[in-house]
Amino acid sequence: MRPAIFFDCDGVLNEEPGGHGVLGPDDIRLIPGAGTAVRAAREGGYLAIIVTNRAQVAKGFVTLAGLETIFARLRALLAEDGGIVDAIYFCPHHPERGTPGGATDFQITCDCRKPGTLLLRRAVDDFGIDVSRSMLIGDSLRDIGAGHAMGLKSYGVRTGFACRDVERYPDRTLPAPDRMFSDVGEAVAFCVAHP
Ligand SMILES: [Mg+2]
Ligand SMILES: [Zn+2]
Repeated sequence: MRPAIFFDCDGVLNEEPGGHGVLGPDDIRLIPGAGTAVRAAREGGYLAIIVTNRAQVAKGFVTLAGLETIFARLRALLAEDGGIVDAIYFCPHHPERGTPGGATDFQITCDCRKPGTLLLRRAVDDFGIDVSRSMLIGDSLRDIGAGHAMGLKSYGVRTGFACRDVERYPDRTLPAPDRMFSDVGEAVAFCVAHP
């Protein structure tokens, strides 16, 4: 059983563009050091697994095929610095119904949208991940909430939402990151040094 470092995507590995988020491959701009950080995670013996909410699909801004081009661009940019991602798990859903132009099939309440844990549980099953030695890095309280619900050490970064997105959190009880780091490079360095 191998441990994993679970990465959120926007705001952690690539810049959070704001607005409706990443809508196409050209919106992917790596956060400096992200590729090196993914590489360091794998060299430290961790699987590097992305878990990401992609409500843009439910809202009709991005198709599933479009999402693949976005992920391909992200993987390619990370790989330029030796960062190989083992897998990407995404939630295409959003609970709001009837968004004009939206993809109604995906407008559901699901268990995979973080802070739900289904994306994490799928990855754990697929890879036989050792949860007790795994960690999560996110820029949103949604990431931290999902990580804690899985019993993962969950670290925040000061890029993207910097875990200050209180008003976006669905519950009154807010999760608190176990530690905050300036960026994903610093977070991974800590993870690898403190297994
Ligand atoms: Mg994020
Ligand atoms: Zn979902």
